[in-house]
This record gives sequence, structure tokens and C-alpha cells, in this order.
Amino acid sequence: MDFSSPLLAVEDAQRELLRHFGPLPTEFVPLAAALGRTLATAVQADADMPPFANSAMDGYAVRAADLAQASRTNAVPLRIIERVAAGAMPTLTVESGTAIRIMTGAPLPAGADAVVPFEETSELHTPASAQTEHVQVYVAPVVGTNIRPAGEDMRTGDTVLEAGTVITPGIIGVLATVGAAQVAVYRRPRVAILATGDELVDVNQKPGPGQIRNSNGYANAAQVWAAGGEPIMLPIVRDNEAALLGAIDQGLAAVVDMFITSGGVSVGDFDVVKQVLEREGKLAFWRVRMRPGKPLAFGHLRGVPLIGLPGNPASAMVCFELFARPAIHTLQGRRSVFRPSVAATLASGAIQATDRRQFLRVVVRATANGLTADLTGGQGSGLVTSMARANGLLVVAEGTTTFEAGSVMPVLLLDAPE
Ligand code: AMP
Ligand code: MG
Repeated sequence: MDFSSPLLAVEDAQRELLRHFGPLPTEFVPLAAALGRTLATAVQADADMPPFANSAMDGYAVRAADLAQASRTNAVPLRIIERVAAGAMPTLTVESGTAIRIMTGAPLPAGADAVVPFEETSELHTPASAQTEHVQVYVAPVVGTNIRPAGEDMRTGDTVLEAGTVITPGIIGVLATVGAAQVAVYRRPRVAILATGDELVDVNQKPGPGQIRNSNGYANAAQVWAAGGEPIMLPIVRDNEAALLGAIDQGLAAVVDMFITSGGVSVGDFDVVKQVLEREGKLAFWRVRMRPGKPLAFGHLRGVPLIGLPGNPASAMVCFELFARPAIHTLQGRRSVFRPSVAATLASGAIQATDRRQFLRVVVRATANGLTADLTGGQGSGLVTSMARANGLLVVAEGTTTFEAGSVMPVLLLDAPE
């Protein structure tokens, strides 16, 4: 056992790991299935949007100069010469003294330079029938009022989206606007999930003496989904070399882009992942200067990258956050692969820095005085419930400082503050 290998600083370990990952090949998906995927190409506007100047309100297209004297107490009458719905084209020109009744989104008629909403006209009280010939206007609009100019949103040829953008509902709207019926995205990473341990039973089993249920496999698979990947859950792997190599072969047969194991990476008698990685593959590092999760292995087995998470449930999930998630994002060609760091005020308690960087599970709340962070209680690396409560990881830099309540500290946000 090599105890002399140095503890790597977290960012060095992240850099060393991410250097082995790059964007996967691209594929086309129908727009309706593109949510959560990552754009593989920049996207340009195929036309001006809006394509034509149009009305922002239901009302009357007018000439502002006609209404310079209009007010609440001085209604100005205009003759209605046409009615235009969205999707139709006006045929007449608004001349002095006239107006065209127009609906939101309908093209602005020639001659008009403002739209007066119904609410500022006599229609507020008596909606115009098809026969009504005049409308009374009670405001003096400035030129351009309630007109959406052509190209206000985008112009033909504009790059409206960059490659590497994660597709949100808002982005779907932009893609639909430019006619992207098929969207070029990076392939989803296929990630094999291997939970190791002689003590593990599956979720549908009642654990016998000395046994527990496999929670990591399911939690890590969910983290893969949440990161945009596709988990391939393999059966529980027993703590021997043959079982692990057999599972690795199963993963290879399923053509995976990465292996994620949990357990078996420390220095216990049965810590088979690290041993196999050393003997049969290439172990890049296995100790990171952090808590939880000092035993964290990374290497390649049969040419496929393998991230060996610690077995303790909270450690496994925290290390997934710090190492596996950025790798899965990198495989998808995402531009930003790390969680955002925010500053939050430690709400209570005191935290002692140590020679290892700590990632403490916290509940981040948005208060009138900004963000606060509360420790989720016990920080034991085996506490699966602490990770369920947390929406942030409070980062305590290596050192000797004691941070009292009220200290402002960095927090990696896992979810929106409560
Ligand atoms: P190990 O790193 O294999 O020594 O495991 C450390 C601790 O995590 C032990 O208490 C294990 O029982 C526990 N553990 C390992 N794998 C899992 C798992 N898949 N689900 C829940 N607990 C686990
Ligand atoms: Mg184990």
C-alpha cells in the first residue's frame, strides 16, 4: 500500500481529472426532446424577429400628430377605415384623421406611427361594432408608442445562442423562433454505476445481519440523470477482483463513456476498486485533501475513465458533485461545469478549519439580509439524510481559522436557496 502518495489539493485533482474528458460526438434531436441537452453548434437567426413592425396592444393604429391635443377631457375623433387581426395584412394607409383597428401582433399599417390601446379610447365603455365609424381617443401618444419594431428581438444572421449552452425552456423558445426543428446537441454520456460491498443488498431486500441497502447506486444514478447523463446501473459488485472485473466487462459491453464506483477505495482489507485500478488499469490519484472523501480514486480501466467514489453515502454524493458532475458536463460540451459559488453568512455554530478542505452540508436560505447557511446538523460522512436536506456545500479552506457564526463563507449551491 502506497501511503507516501501525496494528498492532492481539490482543484489540482479536478484539473487532473477533467484533462481526461472532452465533448462527446454530436447528434440531432427533435426540438421537443431537446430540454436539458447541450447545444453543439452556435445558432443564428434565419430572419428578423419580429419579421415586421407590429402592434404591442389591441387598439388603434394612428398618426400621433393627429392626437397632439387629445386628453381625458378633450377626446379627438378618428374615422375607422379598416380592421386588422393578427395573421392578416392591412390594405389601407392611415391618413390624417383616420385610424385602423388593430390586434396585438398584427402588422402596423402604412402611415401609422403609434398604437392607442382600447383602454385610452371610447371602446373602454362601448366596444366598436363592425358598423361603428368613429372612435374617440383620450391620449396624445408619442411616436412609436405600442409599436414593436421589426428586428427588435433578433436580426437575420445574429448569433442568438452559443455552442455549449444548456437548453432551458427559454432556449427552446428561441430555437423554435428560428425554425430549429432538429437541434444539434452533444450525445448524453453513458455512465456505468457500480456499487461495491459484500454488505450490500438491493432496495427490494430486507437487510440481514451485517447488511445494508445499496443507497449509493441509486443516489449516484440520480445524480447522473440530474447532470444530463444516462446512468447504466449494474448489479451490486462483491468485494473481490473477479466480481469487479466481471462488472467492468458488463459495463464495456454496454458501451459506456465512464465508470462510477462507490466503496472500496480506501485502505481496508477488501478495498478492491483501488487494487484493481492499480493492477489492471492506470491509477492517476486516489487521495484528495478534502473532507468528506479523502479516498477518491481516479484512473482508467480498459481504456475507460473510472471515478472511484468513497463508500460512505454523504462522501459518495459530495465527491460526485465535485468530480463526477463536472466530468459529465465536460463530456456534454457544457461551457460551465462547476456549481456556482455564493457568499452566505454562517447562521449559527462555529467551524474549525483543518488541514483538509471541508465541504459541509448546509441549508441555504434567502433572507432580507442576504443568504444564510445553516449546517444540516451532524456532518458524519455516513449520514444519508444530511445530503437529502442540504441545498449547498459550505467550503472551509484549509488552515487553522475558527469561523464563528456571522462569518461570510463560500457555498457551492446545489439547488436554489429556500
Ligand atoms: P467502503 O469505502 O467500501 O469501506 O465503505 C465505507 C462505508 O460506506 C461502509 O460503512 C459501507 O457499508 C458504506 N457503503 C459502501 N457502499 C455503500 C452503498 N452502495 N450504499 C450505502 N452504503 C454504502
Ligand atoms: Mg466496501
